[in-house]
Amino acid sequence: MERGIRFIAQCYDIETGDVLEESLLRDDHISKACRLKELGYLHAEQIDLLKRIQDFKIKQQMELYTSTTCPECGLKTRRLGVFSSQFHAVLTDHKVPIQRVSCTCGWVSASSIEGLYGSAIHPDLLEKQAIQGGKESYEQSSKSLNANSAMKRAVNGHSQISRAVQRVGEKLVEIKSSVEYGKGNKVAETLLVNIDGGHIKARGDNRSFEAMVATACLDRFVARTAIGSGGVSIIFTIGLIPDYHNPRFNKPPFSSRTVGFPESGWRP
Ligand SMILES: [Zn+2]
Repeated sequence: MERGIRFIAQCYDIETGDVLEESLLRDDHISKACRLKELGYLHAEQIDLLKRIQDFKIKQQMELYTSTTCPECGLKTRRLGVFSSQFHAVLTDHKVPIQRVSCTCGWVSASSIEGLYGSAIHPDLLEKQAIQGGKESYEQSSKSLNANSAMKRAVNGHSQISRAVQRVGEKLVEIKSSVEYGKGNKVAETLLVNIDGGHIKARGDNRSFEAMVATACLDRFVARTAIGSGGVSIIFTIGLIPDYHNPRFNKPPFSSRTVGFPESGWRP
């Protein structure tokens, strides 16, 4: 007996159980896996199935979006045509059909995901880009994120990852600069500050940067885990200096040092 396996998606009426729309997502012939690689689905096949599942759900959701009455005046709307809009989910890219409608009062519905939600990039993907871009270079982040999706995605380009890091970073600065941030009843008895620096050779000319990093934390033991949380602030000071020493990677201008401020009254 030859065996096959089908993945069928159904949109149905929950009350009556009637199937409103059905789609065959995948139909495979089942064969014996002679090699481990043949067991189950390949990475690219898994992503493809995920994309088809997403496409089906998004299509049903967008049909709910189409408004038959004008939100401004309540009159009946008329259809202007179906537009195709880009949408970037965490692992997959989609072309979303959007039915645009208009009203005689002048109101016109949005024709893109960006117009509807303010962005075509799902927050899950934005979060992954910001985290990955904060951990490694934008080039390496792009490769890592593309590897998750088993394909090269334009949305994971360097410039987008840079923007994601910048957007999240600006928000964090805004939060940390607020009056409310850091307020609490606890006062740290000891505050440790670690400062280090070194030269980084500039690309293309005979100059270098001096980079300094200062980290403040409650104590040595929380330094690693507290990075990025409320217990630590990190300050980067980078300035371009003439390359008097013709360095490649010189020794840091001063060694790493730790200073305590027991009476600082610093609030975590
Ligand atoms: Zn109207």
